[in-house]
This record gives sequence, structure tokens and C-alpha cells, in this order.
Amino acid sequence: HAIAQYDVVIIGAGPSGSVAASLLHQQGKKVLVLEKQAFPRFSIGESLLPCCMQMLDEANMLDAVNNAGFQFKNGAAFNANGRSTHFDFTDKFTPGPGTTFQVERGSFDKLLADTAIEQGVEIRFGDTVEAIDLSADPLLSIVDKQGIPYQVQARYLLDASGFGRVLPRLLDLERPSDLPSRTAIFTHIDDHIDEIELADYQFDRNKILISVHPDNRDIWYWLIPFSNGRCSLGVVGEPHLLGDIGDDLESVLMRLVNEEPRLKQLLAKAKVVRPCARLEGYSANVSTLATNKFALLGNAGEFLDPVFSSGVTIAMQSASMAAKCVVKQLNGQEVDWQVDYAAPLMLGVDTFRTYVQAWYDGRFQDVIFFEAPNPKIKQMICSILAGYAWDQNNPFVTESERRLNMIVELCK
Ligand code: FAD
Repeated sequence: HAIAQYDVVIIGAGPSGSVAASLLHQQGKKVLVLEKQAFPRFSIGESLLPCCMQMLDEANMLDAVNNAGFQFKNGAAFNANGRSTHFDFTDKFTPGPGTTFQVERGSFDKLLADTAIEQGVEIRFGDTVEAIDLSADPLLSIVDKQGIPYQVQARYLLDASGFGRVLPRLLDLERPSDLPSRTAIFTHIDDHIDEIELADYQFDRNKILISVHPDNRDIWYWLIPFSNGRCSLGVVGEPHLLGDIGDDLESVLMRLVNEEPRLKQLLAKAKVVRPCARLEGYSANVSTLATNKFALLGNAGEFLDPVFSSGVTIAMQSASMAAKCVVKQLNGQEVDWQVDYAAPLMLGVDTFRTYVQAWYDGRFQDVIFFEAPNPKIKQMICSILAGYAWDQNNPFVTESERRLNMIVELCK
């Protein structure tokens, strides 16, 4: 058999894989996406940031997403010890979309993949990448849904395998994260929040609600409303802080929810509608993000933490940045993958890192709940929370640590 040849092979059809495939196909490249699961499939990561609407637009997927009936999102609300505050993403420093959606990832990821297919991209579902040979052009060994092995060869390889982390595992690129290992326990609920009497508080379905545990600021909860009366509900913390975690994840989750008075009140009539799941040690890093043969996209590269819902935005941003470099290289131009891809991508990832670290050590929580924020500064921070972590006009991006510490002092 002759081995089939492609310009680019992409491992995984999550948001980073579908967006990259679409962008490369638009540039006339012959692309194959290999996805081991059948879609729709469950994935965590349901609250998007407005910045990712730009990448969906580039990929000509915006109309499909706008018309799909997903829950509108215009900000993030925070709640700790009876105090509430929120960021309105349309009131931000960086130009660009200020609203987005909260999505069940089964249908969202399927919509992006189907849209890429309609555009002409070839996606094979049920085909698992098992081995890679990089001694010449990347050669992939695959097993299809019937269990039959075959190979394909690409001029360039993109790993969009998410937590599958195919290339980091096969090429020994995995490195420990600089963040401690945390556990997330989560489910979907029929929330029935509209039946709850709330005297002094207005619940806003257009925002993700992040709540902080009253006794331990390291434990936090997400509540992400969907458009069908359901919410995604989860709790995150270092495992030793979450108490006894046996097999009954639902009772652990509900015990922790009932320890936070506002959530306890909001969710008094909620019904769990899917088995609780648990993920731990999801923060990950790699030694190399890209070479002239392969690049890691999204979660296959570095994954920080879910607190600011940055995962899908980083995934799509990496797809957009990598696609431009791949096109350049395939068209015969020189690409320095460190300078042209890894460093610019890490600018935004490192901005998020500053805020994630400051969230867990409490500095950023103090800033968020400060009662008299300067409106200009709030807009600059709001830009980052809306996903615009690569905007070099924003001093809170270019000097994230120093600027944040200045504000922390002001809020004292
Ligand atoms: P994925 O969406 O994971 O897609 C990878 C695909 O590759 C999968 O479909 C998989 O089947 C396929 N694959 C894997 N191995 C192989 C193989 N060997 N061969 C072929 N195919 C393969 N992000 C947000 O933006 N908002 C949130 O609110 C949010 N909440 C989160 C909460 C938690 C607890 C965690 C852990 C993460 C959260 N994230 C969130 C992050 C988000 O889940 C990811 O960043 C996002 O899904 C990454 O997209 P991706 O395209 O890189 O990978």
C-alpha cells in the first residue's frame, strides 16, 4: 500500500483541532483530522470567553455558533462570604467581542467539527493515533474503529489531543506543572433556580458564577448556566482540603455545596442529572511546544487551571497562531517555531498564570472584592478575564505581575 500523504494531520477534533483544520483548509492545505471518539462526546470546559469569538470568526464558524441556541454569556460573577461582585465583559479595555456563550461541550464540539466538515475538512471519527515516527516527515500509526491499523504521512503534524496529550507522552515531552495538583468534582444539574425566592440577590444566567468556600479560599465552585434550565456545577481544591473523597462523588459535591451559604440557597431545589465525575492533577506542562515537524495546541501543551475559563480560548488562540506558522512553512518560508509560535502563545498563557497564582494565594481575590475599584483599571483586568491576555497594549498583560501587585497594594 502507498501511504496516504497530507499537508497537515491533526490529532483530535476538539475546539483546537477543528479551528486549526478549518484555518488550514481555507489556505488550500490538504488536512486530515483523526479523532478517537464518536461525537457528540462529553468534555469539561463549558464556559467560553469573548476573545474566542474572534478565532471562531476567522474559522468562519461564528454564524453556526451564534445560531445554535447556546446560553448567552456577558461576564463573570463572584461570590464569597455573602459579598457579590461581577465583571461585565462588554466594559473592557481591549477592542473585540464582549459576549460569548456557555455551552455543553458535546454539542459545541460536534458543531465545530461538523462545520469544518461542511467546509471540506476530512475528519475520521473512531480512529486513534497510537505511534509517531519523526525520523523523516511525520509518520502516524493509527488504529481505525474496526481495529484495523494503517499509516498516514504529513508534512506537518498538529497535536490537538487535549488531555490525551499524545505527543507529550509518545515523545517524552511531559514536564511537571508549576501549580499544585488539584481535584475537580463536577456534574450537570436541573437547577430550578427560578423557583428560589432571593431577597437581596439577583442570580444572572448570563454569567458564570464563581463562589469561594467560606472557610478556605483555596476551594472554589463554578456554576455555569446553560440555555435548557441546566447548569454545570463543580468544585475545585487541593485533595486534602476537600475532606474524605470516597466513591460517592455526589455526596462529596453536595456536602461542599452546602458549606457555601449562597450556593446552598440557590441550589436548594437542584437535581443532579448526570453522574458526578472527578478529574485530578490536570495541570500539565511540556518541555517543547513546537519544532519544524510538530506543534502542540491547546491542552496538549500547557494546561494551567480552570478558574478563569481560559482553556478553550487558549486552545483556539494556539490553533490560530500555529495555523499561520504552518502555512508559512508549507509555502517555503522560514519559521522559527520558538520565536514565531511558542513565545507569542506563552505571552497570554503567562498572563493567565499570574492571575491563577494570585487567585490561589488570595491577592487577586482581594482585588476582585475590593469595594471601590478604579474604573479604568477594572476595564484592563476585565479584558484579561474576557480572554484578551495577548493584548500588548494592556499594561496588565505586558507587566502582569508588577501591575497586579500595585493594585493589590492599593486595595489594602
Ligand atoms: P479537547 O477538547 O480535550 O479535545 C481533544 C480531542 O482529542 C478529544 O476529542 C479526544 O478524544 C481526542 N484524542 C485524544 N487522544 C487521541 C488519540 N490518541 N487519537 C485521536 N484522538 C485523540 N475551559 C474553558 O474554556 N472553560 C471552562 O469553563 C473550563 N472548565 C474546566 C474545568 C476543569 C475541571 C478542567 C480540568 C478544564 C476546564 N477547561 C475549561 C479547560 C478545557 O477543558 C480545555 O482547555 C479544552 O477542552 C481544550 O480543548 P482542546 O481542543 O485542546 O482539547
